[in-house]
Amino acid sequence: MQTLTLEQETNPWEAQAARFDFAARKLNLDEGIWKVLRYPAREIIVHIPVGMDDGSIEVFTGYRVQHSIARGPAKGGIRYSPDVSLDEVRALASWMTWKCAVVNIPFGGAKGGVICDPKKMSQGELERMTRRYTAELVEFIGPEKDVPAPDMGTNEQTMAWIMDTYSMHLRQTCTAVVTGKPVNIGGSRGRREATGRGISVVCDEALKYLGMPVEGCRVIVQGFGNVGSNSAKLLAEKGYTIIGIAEYDGGLFNSNGIDVPALIEHRSHAGTIVGFAGAEAADKDDLITYPCEILIPAATENVVTSRNADRLRCKILCEGANGPTTTVADEILADKRVFIIPDILANAGGVTTSYFEWVQDRMGYFWTEAEVNQRLDAIMSQSFQDVVAYATSHAVNNRIAAYMLAIDRVAYTTKQRGIYA
Ligand code: NAD
Repeated sequence: MQTLTLEQETNPWEAQAARFDFAARKLNLDEGIWKVLRYPAREIIVHIPVGMDDGSIEVFTGYRVQHSIARGPAKGGIRYSPDVSLDEVRALASWMTWKCAVVNIPFGGAKGGVICDPKKMSQGELERMTRRYTAELVEFIGPEKDVPAPDMGTNEQTMAWIMDTYSMHLRQTCTAVVTGKPVNIGGSRGRREATGRGISVVCDEALKYLGMPVEGCRVIVQGFGNVGSNSAKLLAEKGYTIIGIAEYDGGLFNSNGIDVPALIEHRSHAGTIVGFAGAEAADKDDLITYPCEILIPAATENVVTSRNADRLRCKILCEGANGPTTTVADEILADKRVFIIPDILANAGGVTTSYFEWVQDRMGYFWTEAEVNQRLDAIMSQSFQDVVAYATSHAVNNRIAAYMLAIDRVAYTTKQRGIYA
């Protein structure tokens, strides 16, 4: 096993590059195409002046990285967090390229981020920062160029501000510039729950594939934000037992199952999951090592590392977050025969419904929630089956299979288009 410091092990760009190189080698990828696909096509850094509520001016640093536009416009979320770094955004942008290719939708990959702490900023400060960030990027984004979406620390409101700012510069309303908008201004029905819904579909598929019943299937979820709460809610509706939920400020455990809608209700007025009467308090870091059938990390990167992977007791690791597992942890989990549903497959429900939103905006014709969900379910089931079939036929694990499938598709298009040099 490689010996890496924790800092090296948890660099998301290195983690992405290591998996990319491994999969590219397995594919026997042409050396030139390898170089083209390994690095992002464009990296933009902006320094955003923002008038703060107390009258002072703060300057925030923001990024937008466009990894590839080979298969269509670049696509990817915008993250507001104190931990944002260029390496993180680069990794997330590349993952978006692979993710869109795994589910076979016509997008490339991008990601954006601003180094800030949204929890400490007022709505007014967030709005001004978002508008100036958008103004700085106005010639680089657009429905045919690069289409942002929400990610950690951003939401429907953020997307509405981006859409409005972009539209003001264009002098016309342009809804298709971002996805994840509120439904009344061009958002898609089902988008809010889409990532969680996709996760529930791949969990169903994994149980079928492994011959395990839904009844008695214990699930632990880390992170109770958009992805975590919707995954927990939809899985509970399907009959799974949500026994544990971990948040940054504490964990909850109930072996009989947590009432997820009641917890959502509790969090909406308490502002935290802590203190919920329907479960006992549990240590948030220990919780992910409790025995369960499915563990869903749905918070952030690098939560399963060489430091804790050997203590995990799940049968299936379904990656709701992007990059939750390091490459060293992958090796440990392989030895423990944990069945991994990799991030670029598991959480692709969000971008798939974003694709539907972009399609609906450009048509100006909106689908019912049932139509959206039915199309999403079909794509997620098919993609799961494609990845496990690829893993079997190439004798690789699910993660490398997903990368190989994706790289193969992007490389094919890149070769077909040719290199404009
Ligand atoms: P979010 O901000 O809505 O929720 C994240 C939650 O995780 C928050 O409640 C936060 O308090 C919690 N959290 C953060 N660090 C934690 C820790 N160490 N332990 C426990 N809880 C922690 O963000 P989200 O949109 O749900 O995204 C979560 C992850 O899913 C990210 O990796 C994101 O890139 C990925 N993702 C999101 C979408 C989407 O549609 N929102 C799609 C694909 C992937």
